[in-house]
Amino acid sequence: MSRTKYQRVVLKLSGEALAGEGGFGISSDVLRTVAEQIRDIIELGVQVSVVVGGGNIWRGASASGEGMERAHADYMGMIATVLNALALQDALERISVVTRVQTSIEMRQVAEPYIRRRAMRHLEKGRVVIFAGGTGNPFFTTDTAAALRAAEIEADVILMAKNGVDGVYNADPQKVPTATKYDSLNFMTVLSQGLGVMDATATSLCMDNDIPILVFSITESGNIRRAVLGEQIGTIVRR
Ligand code: UDP
Repeated sequence: MSRTKYQRVVLKLSGEALAGEGGFGISSDVLRTVAEQIRDIIELGVQVSVVVGGGNIWRGASASGEGMERAHADYMGMIATVLNALALQDALERISVVTRVQTSIEMRQVAEPYIRRRAMRHLEKGRVVIFAGGTGNPFFTTDTAAALRAAEIEADVILMAKNGVDGVYNADPQKVPTATKYDSLNFMTVLSQGLGVMDATATSLCMDNDIPILVFSITESGNIRRAVLGEQIGTIVRR
């Protein structure tokens, strides 16, 4: 257990990270490889919680741009995250990883309600806790849910798994060939330069509570393991 740099982590999986090529829906191949990577770090003795996004199914802000009331659209987005959580739960349990899903909006027939102390107890027992439903409030994001849950459960780090991007760059690497990747950054730089790590609310919450964020690519197999072992991958954002 002492081999790992982090003992308790929040893995943030955006909806996009669970989607296949088209960026929509849930890919069973992606689910399987993500689940295997999570099993790898459970076997190292790391306590793993996951916050799942929902952007592969529904984004409140986009629907609101087309005329839907924002809060209503956001509740739909929060429910979309539950679909992803249940899919991930299935993928993990198929490979014998014990899981619990906890939702911030009660859905007792399918998952436990979010109860902080209970979540921590599950983690201590080696179960993966999947947090669904975001913060339970419209106008927020699942990045903010990751920051909030990390603070609540006293996680050592947020592992921000990205699809296809392997860290934080000074410009968009898809558009600017000379863009360079940062190995580390501080929160103030991320906020003042508007770098694409997390939204500002989530970043501020991490800064205030001294929770480092490691941004890395999940596309490369074994990266979650490298991250918890403290190998130099991606970009670390800290104080
Ligand atoms: N959402 C929300 N409150 C939250 C978290 C999420 O209203 O605390 C809604 C919001 O509409 C958002 C959608 O759920 O667009 C999906 O979440 P998010 O965009 O964070 O998912 P990701 O980008 O990580 O896939």
